[in-house]
Amino acid sequence: MARGAASVKRRGAARFDLSGRRAFVTGGGRGIGRALALGLVEFGAAVALGGRDREALEHVVQDIVTAGGAAIPVSLDVRQAADCARAVADAADALGGLDILINNAGIEEVRPSLLVDEALWDLIVDTNLKGAFFCSQAAAKAFAGQPGAILNLCSLTSHVGIPTAVPYGSSKSGLLGMTRALATEWAPLGIRVNAIAPGYFRTAMTEPFYTSQAWCSAMLARIPQARFGTTDDLVGSACFLCSDAAAYVTGHCLAVDGGTLASI
Ligand code: NDP
Repeated sequence: MARGAASVKRRGAARFDLSGRRAFVTGGGRGIGRALALGLVEFGAAVALGGRDREALEHVVQDIVTAGGAAIPVSLDVRQAADCARAVADAADALGGLDILINNAGIEEVRPSLLVDEALWDLIVDTNLKGAFFCSQAAAKAFAGQPGAILNLCSLTSHVGIPTAVPYGSSKSGLLGMTRALATEWAPLGIRVNAIAPGYFRTAMTEPFYTSQAWCSAMLARIPQARFGTTDDLVGSACFLCSDAAAYVTGHCLAVDGGTLASI
């Protein structure tokens, strides 16, 4: 390859490079959070993984270290605002600063709305929405006046109503609203706030649905690309939004769903 062509390719890759960036991924011990943490490492970042299951976090840390990356576990329950503040500060201390936060920790339970009680509402909304807010607030402080990127895990339910998923849909619609509001409030601070909205991905959270062949067939019929997502499908979009390639993108929610939202 000619030297000019090689240097053009390097400049292109550099736009997406996360070398030297320090990221905190909540819910990094399994599923989508694990995949995003590994993806950030592929793009050069060092990561801290937050969650309640310490053993799961340590397994992912080991996977990352084995792959040649750097990672640390941080115990975190996102339902407690004080824990969010403490965990983000611990992550920033351990990594020597913070540049990226991925608010991935989440929980879902479907139940007819007439049967939803206060405990279920609080569990889902506190985990998916309140936790993301207080982690974002702590990250904005940890960015310490430097540019930062926050990425929130929204959902199809941020955009459309799904019966029996009202607490979850409310939390994810709220998360989309929060993404837009923080993006506008913190743009002058150099902090970008974006989201991705995954479609249908088989993880521990969604596993009960996938045991039904009838459910799988009905859902596949709604996905223009006619397949479920794999957690790896989310890595490029997430890392793009956290990188300098997205320097002028804020307040945006990128659907990663095989065309599902576009077809509704
Ligand atoms: P998983 O259930 O596999 O993972 C959820 C993660 O969140 C776990 O690591 C869990 O860790 C963590 N978590 C849950 N509650 C808390 C808490 N109180 N404090 C800290 N961490 C917590 O789910 P997915 O990987 O599928 O989901 C990841 C995100 O993607 C969620 O926000 C979900 O809403 C979103 N999403 C998923 C879709 C899908 O199809 N799978 C579709 C659209 C959005 P631990 O239990 O150890 O604390």
